[in-house]
Amino acid sequence: MYIYADNAATTRMSDTAMRVMTESMKDVYGNPSSLHSIGQQASEKLLAARMEVAECLGADFKEIYFTSGGSEADNQAIVSAAALGALKGKRHIISTKIEHHAVLHTLDKLSEKGFEITLLEVGKDGIVDPRSVEKAIREDTAFVTVMYANNEIGTLQPIKEIGQICREEGVIFHTDAVQAVGHVDINVMDENIDMLSLSAHKFHGPKGIGVLYANKKIPLTNLIEGGAQERGKRAGTENLPAIMGMTAALKESIQNMGETAKKVSALRDRLIMGLSKISHSVLNGDRQKRLPGNVNFCFEGIEGESLLLLLDSKGIAASSGSACTSGSLDPSHVLLAIGRPHEVAHGSLRLTLCGENTEKEVDYIIEEVTKVVEYLRGMSPVWDALEKGEMEHVI
Ligand SMILES: *Cc1c(COP(=O)(O)O)cnc(C)c1O
Repeated sequence: MYIYADNAATTRMSDTAMRVMTESMKDVYGNPSSLHSIGQQASEKLLAARMEVAECLGADFKEIYFTSGGSEADNQAIVSAAALGALKGKRHIISTKIEHHAVLHTLDKLSEKGFEITLLEVGKDGIVDPRSVEKAIREDTAFVTVMYANNEIGTLQPIKEIGQICREEGVIFHTDAVQAVGHVDINVMDENIDMLSLSAHKFHGPKGIGVLYANKKIPLTNLIEGGAQERGKRAGTENLPAIMGMTAALKESIQNMGETAKKVSALRDRLIMGLSKISHSVLNGDRQKRLPGNVNFCFEGIEGESLLLLLDSKGIAASSGSACTSGSLDPSHVLLAIGRPHEVAHGSLRLTLCGENTEKEVDYIIEEVTKVVEYLRGMSPVWDALEKGEMEHVI
């Protein structure tokens, strides 16, 4: 048995998306910019995809820009909103401490260029207080960027409220909705969202394709210069097979959203129940306001990395909330932001489920995680010290 429980990292492509992509590669191989009929066929498919994506988000098709994924969409949204602000002498940006690195690192670059960045704190539940956004807005605030759902702890943010505040204050509002699109209901009009990033491979679509939605009133800054594709804002021959695969996956996940969310959140709750029984463990992120498939725990006296490797040997693909996996020993900025001490943040485990997981798999995960945690604690000098009372338990 091999159980894939790392759907926040990426998902398996749906059969529909694969079929649509294969057909597109075989049949619609023209360049949408070509004037001949083969090209025009591709151009029609491209427009159809753009209109369908727009409809899924409650946007206009002229507000949809295809990008290479979530990272590019985040970069372009932020760089564009900053440039627009700078034109009006506004060089202050508001975001949060728990954003994805595609947002945080882009903001770091802007800070080097003289922008002032306010990174808001989140509560212990991992949620941003809309009032803190309101308080942080100044005369010179160019824009606000707050993620829709966190990729580590799954918390859903009060996006509609934040959007409302930004609207009233006349400040542009961007949201990195990469973890949320296809999993929860989103409508950019209803939620006062000016810009939104999404990525296909987080909802069973192909990798390397995403969307930046940008309200008509926001002129974008190009990251890639060249041809006039994407209304002149993103050069390069369109990746039509991926665009069509993404569109199919998006429609499919929205169509099945209610049913999938019900099934997946029941599995999530079963997993949370099971893992809560492990002593000195704690769930990270709000219990209710979280993505249907997200489970994230800290276990005291454990190294996240050893836990992952042992689980992999038991046939479970999971992830650690910490950046250890990318070779750095820094604990996760998200876990630190919700107040977990360094040593606890190191012992984190993220399990992210999808509609393909089963109750049987969840029960196996609970059994194996419980065993592996016990085994690792048995070898841990830290756990020994905690047990002997030489150190105090923090969870
Ligand atoms: C995955 C992810 C991204 C990056 O998307 P890519 O398509 O992999 O570039 C950005 N933000 C969040 C919240 C993500 O989960």
